[in-house]
Amino acid sequence: MNSKIPIKRILCAAVAAVMFSSLAACTAPLSKTKDLTASSLEFVVANAPAVSTRKVVIKASPANIRSGPGRNYSVIGRTQKGKSFDYLGTKKDNRKNVWYKIQYTKTKTGWVISSLGKLTAVTTTKATTAASKTTSSTTSVTEGTVSTTTTSWMCVSSIHKPKTTASTTPTGTTTTTTAAARKKNLIISGNPVNVRSGAGKNYSKIGSTSRGKKYELLGTEKDSSGTKWYKIQYTASKAGWVLGSLAYIEGEKPNNKDNGKVAYLTFDDGPSVNTIKILDILDKYNVKATFFVIYHGNMKSKYQEIVKRGHTLALHSYTHDYSKIYKSEKGYYSDLNKIHDYVEKTTGVDSKIIRFPGGSSNTVSNKYNKGIMKTLKKSVTKNGYYYHDWNVSSGDAAGRNIKASKLLKNVKSGIGKKKVINVLMHDTGKSKMTTVEALPSIIEYIRSQGYSFEAITEDSTLIQHG
Ligand code: ZN
Repeated sequence: MNSKIPIKRILCAAVAAVMFSSLAACTAPLSKTKDLTASSLEFVVANAPAVSTRKVVIKASPANIRSGPGRNYSVIGRTQKGKSFDYLGTKKDNRKNVWYKIQYTKTKTGWVISSLGKLTAVTTTKATTAASKTTSSTTSVTEGTVSTTTTSWMCVSSIHKPKTTASTTPTGTTTTTTAAARKKNLIISGNPVNVRSGAGKNYSKIGSTSRGKKYELLGTEKDSSGTKWYKIQYTASKAGWVLGSLAYIEGEKPNNKDNGKVAYLTFDDGPSVNTIKILDILDKYNVKATFFVIYHGNMKSKYQEIVKRGHTLALHSYTHDYSKIYKSEKGYYSDLNKIHDYVEKTTGVDSKIIRFPGGSSNTVSNKYNKGIMKTLKKSVTKNGYYYHDWNVSSGDAAGRNIKASKLLKNVKSGIGKKKVINVLMHDTGKSKMTTVEALPSIIEYIRSQGYSFEAITEDSTLIQHG
């Protein structure tokens, strides 16, 4: 049942309301709150009615709505990313997938799989006291996780400053809070940067921001994998979280780790006989990378190994046959869906990160359908995919086994003064042995220039050809 969450919420709001009414002059010490008796709390609770609704917000397009909690039930409709529906319940199917029951239309209920929907509870409490403020909070619930963040208000030095408190979630997310201390600002260094509803990439995207934007910093948190997130005052009434590597605190000199210099190493067209060698080198240097894969029969264990070692498994193409994928939009999606489903079946990864064969700026596609890239770029973005090109090329595609020293030279000259680099390499087996040979020196050089390596996620800076 969800009754626990709203009650907690009401209490927090009630405390805030009482604090404001009893500290209206804003000079009394905070310890005054200790004077609250149980009965006064109850009184305030009774006078602070909470309105609570739970919604399922759709995370990806298109999402099928089914007549029951399972893929074997018929599709009764389709919906798009960003749409939200009243939440009616949860059920697991016999493959342990979680399904949400929703109010699909006024008269019809439906079911959506939890990987495509985010369960969100919004509670608004309006206190009626003269000096009261409205407290509202959002709870994001993912499978087996309840995470609660509440923004309340306290009174310090005659100025109202926000105080942030957050709970520890069962998944082990720890939270550091900033009390109403000296105000700090956060400056965004990535471009664009997703703003999320919680400290983790599993939280829903509530907006986006760009390099140079400044926000009040509300706190620093680490997600269950140890990655740092900043909590910011995103809008006047809404807090949001941004990935730690894409921003820095104003006045604190950005060091190598926080200077916003990020390198994405990317390997196209694999897996191949080189995949394990590449993975071993990446492990040796403790570097995470991204593999844009195509379909190769009998290489199942290699797709799995990429995931097991913590890299990003992303989608390139099933056939890599330009005449099929660039013939029409339908042809493109038929190929993309095939590689998506193969990767998901083989590794469990439901990837939304893609790279077009030839890149988004390729002109070869015009041979099959003039202007198709323009259509596809718009379409994939609308459908919830993140497409990545590159801005540094190793040049390993220019021929068979191009000298390792030449590949390194290409990378060096390609980096220039770029803040974020996406380095294109290939995992294509026997014709790209020199890519493996050059990889250690490429990593060492990039590291020496102050970059930190990251695997591409849905929060990563998009490097896209203009
Ligand atoms: Zn390719």
